[in-house]
Amino acid sequence: MTEVKRVYTFGNKQAEGNATMKNLLGGKGANLAEMNLIGVPVPPGFTITTDVCTEYNTLGRDKVVELLKGEVERAMSFVEETMNAKFGSKGEAFPLLMSVRSGARVSMPGMMDTVLNLGLNDDTVKLIAEKSGNEKFAFDSYRRFIHMYGSVVMGVEAENGEHDPFEVVLDKVRDAKGYQSDAEFTVEDLKGIVDSYKVVVREKAGKDFPTNPWDQLWGAVCAVFDSWNTERAILYRRMEQIPGEWGTAVNVQAMVYGNMGENSATGVAFSRDASTGENLFNGEYLINAQGEDVVAGVRTPQEITLEGSRRWAVRGGVSEDERAAKFPSLEEAMPELYAELDAVQEKLEKHYSDMQDLEFTIQDGKLWMLQTRNGKRTGAAMVRMVVEMLKEGMIDDETALLRLEPNKLDELLHPVFSADGIDAANVLSKGLPASPGAATGKIVFSADKAEEIVENDPKAKVILVRRETSPEDLKGMYAAQGILTERGGMTSHAAVVARGMGKCCVSSAAGIRVDATKLTIDGKEYKEGEWISLNGSTGEVYEGQVPTITPSLDGDFGEIMKLADKYTRMYVRTNADTPHDAKTAADFGAKGIGLCRTEHMFFEGERIIAVREMILAENEEGRKEALKKLLPMQRSDFEGILEAMDGHGVTIRLLDPPLHEFTPNDEKSQLEMAEELSIPVEEIIAKVDALHEINPMLGHRGCRLGNTYPEITEMQARAIIEAACNLRARGLDPKPEIMVPLVGTVNELKLQEEIIRRVAEEVFAEKGLKVEFLVGTMIEIPRAALTANEIAKHAEFFSFGTNDLTQMTFGYSRDDAAKFLPIYLNKGLLKNDPFQVLDQTGVGQLVEMAVEKGKATRPDIKLGICGEHGGEPSSVEFCHRAGLAYVSCSPFRVPIARLAAAQANVRK
Ligand code: PEP
Ligand code: MG
Repeated sequence: MTEVKRVYTFGNKQAEGNATMKNLLGGKGANLAEMNLIGVPVPPGFTITTDVCTEYNTLGRDKVVELLKGEVERAMSFVEETMNAKFGSKGEAFPLLMSVRSGARVSMPGMMDTVLNLGLNDDTVKLIAEKSGNEKFAFDSYRRFIHMYGSVVMGVEAENGEHDPFEVVLDKVRDAKGYQSDAEFTVEDLKGIVDSYKVVVREKAGKDFPTNPWDQLWGAVCAVFDSWNTERAILYRRMEQIPGEWGTAVNVQAMVYGNMGENSATGVAFSRDASTGENLFNGEYLINAQGEDVVAGVRTPQEITLEGSRRWAVRGGVSEDERAAKFPSLEEAMPELYAELDAVQEKLEKHYSDMQDLEFTIQDGKLWMLQTRNGKRTGAAMVRMVVEMLKEGMIDDETALLRLEPNKLDELLHPVFSADGIDAANVLSKGLPASPGAATGKIVFSADKAEEIVENDPKAKVILVRRETSPEDLKGMYAAQGILTERGGMTSHAAVVARGMGKCCVSSAAGIRVDATKLTIDGKEYKEGEWISLNGSTGEVYEGQVPTITPSLDGDFGEIMKLADKYTRMYVRTNADTPHDAKTAADFGAKGIGLCRTEHMFFEGERIIAVREMILAENEEGRKEALKKLLPMQRSDFEGILEAMDGHGVTIRLLDPPLHEFTPNDEKSQLEMAEELSIPVEEIIAKVDALHEINPMLGHRGCRLGNTYPEITEMQARAIIEAACNLRARGLDPKPEIMVPLVGTVNELKLQEEIIRRVAEEVFAEKGLKVEFLVGTMIEIPRAALTANEIAKHAEFFSFGTNDLTQMTFGYSRDDAAKFLPIYLNKGLLKNDPFQVLDQTGVGQLVEMAVEKGKATRPDIKLGICGEHGGEPSSVEFCHRAGLAYVSCSPFRVPIARLAAAQANVRK
């Protein structure tokens, strides 16, 4: 039987592991090994594998220590030799101190434990003081070690309501001596602090601080394994979908010191600018400091490059003389070490073919690299770096495409809050990030008011605040900068419409109440005219005005879109209801419309009166009268949309929502209707009541409307075909696709198809010309998916309405799910909100089944998706695999879907 290898050493330009071994060595361990292999100076050390973490969890501590002992001792000897130092030195050599850090396959920032300066005790501290000639440094390290080890390994922490007991000790000394900063501690102070810390440990942990370095080491290694299963780590894994079986590796590495004097330093750096993507090496460092000092904000970190330092001075209003004297760059302060660091960063970036995020320490004139990893970046930086690296020949097309995160493109399409603004802002509440972007404006409580204010002053900024929105609020939503609602989920009306418009929207915000004249957040009232700000990408609601910036779509964005189109198989359509939205989407590269929800136009101008007349009519005759008025309006809508997407398919859906959504519900509109129809208002009220449904989403809607009132379908089919004929007469190339919603049985579709085709023939005869068109259906009821072979007999296309399909497959109401979904997500009952991320296991099966059955009946059936999932990357990838021809999504998600579709094809 071959012995399992549990420990992998690295150091002195050799390593037993390499960058491909992330699963076994964790990200950090694999990169430490790799850096050695390519000749980068790294303090020597060893990595205990992630598999040992799993063994630890099953076999327990003692068994695992026994299994590791021999290998760890051998690895430690290797480190001792490389560093010319001794772990637990009794005076024969310089004492070797170690750092012990976690390192999972993917980074879990701040989730797990770290111990530094391990190996210090009363003997080694004296040796270090003696041999380094720096007693203060030695005792400062010792007190930091007892504090860190005491809390991480021995569990000495603040108990209910108390302060951290170690901090209490420090406070006492500071107060007694009147110190302003920790730099003022003298050697004697530090020695006293070390003694007090030991007492704290004895009292709180019930045992002495371990003096044997090996005991310290095993304690720290096991603590790292334990930290894999802390509550916060488990929660983080659940959120990031990291499997618990992965485990963490443990990296044990020789300590190097940036705080050994004026010839030492420490810093962090990026091989390119992580916020703009500019190819400029940059970062911060501090002379005579430890890593935590750079990030702690106690001292002002200095820039690494001269260029960066000069830019920093300009930004901060620091004169060149002052900059050079007080805050010189590393390039100026340590030119040779800078040159070495610059060469290393270039080498690492080339090696990994990606922007690197680096940590380094200079100990007494020698450079050590402590970490390298692919750096996190903004959306803008992501795009620019990919385009430039492609041009530099560093990466190929496919790597470029796969490196882009589709959702991050969103940052480039919507306004965002300025970084300074957001730092200063006060968060009032958090809701669902229903539609991305940032908005700031004055509160208004009605759509009319929003419209009125913006009509009078087109520069005015308002936020429409509603309990929920209905189609009636459309104009107000257009006028507003953003929308805040008390209720509603991610596919609620407000969310869907706002996303279509590219308007920021936050829904279901916690602790808020909206009524006609005030917004109440946690008991505090906000009236009309007061400023609030919304972040539709995070769901945050802020008090007051937070400045926004509008990102520009520069040339790099166009480049990556071109690249995506070159590699994609599926194409992308848009969901748009107005010529304006269609045009926006076309500018973003949409090739056609996958869903035009005709009813969204019903609130434009005066047409709602005619719509209501139709709904309130007593009989077919009355309805036909009203429909006659609607016909020219609908025809002109369709002409506009077909023209905006000329030459591309435009799927127009017949009337879908329950009729009561259009009824006059308030007194004012009821009176208005009574006058219009010359009947008593009581009759109107009675009719509105009669139309009320207990469960409207499963009620009189979709094709049930067209099958009970065929004259509605007749009017809509006529409007579409006439519009197409008119455009054809003008020499254009309209391609209408008429879509029947909410079909559950083939007969429902058959009857609708008959009406549509009959009306089309009538129109062709009247006009003396013909236009090609398709008739198809949405697959959005489970029964339609199950019987797709029958339905395909009458459908030339299927468009998957995954909003309703999800609603009906899960049995979750789209409009009410926000009440329980967050709790389900929190408890891990669901991994994702199924209204955002397509449930491939359940709903996905229905899609696949319908594709297969539909093709069996009609091999050339046209297949697409128009639910909100059509703009979500993992769902787009699913659609690609399922064999759909296109995805359709709201205009502002078109670029995201184009990229995701290309990635799906490249990945296959
Ligand atoms: C759907 O159900 O997925 C769909 C696109 O239609 P709507 O959202 O209008 O119900
Ligand atoms: Mg639907």
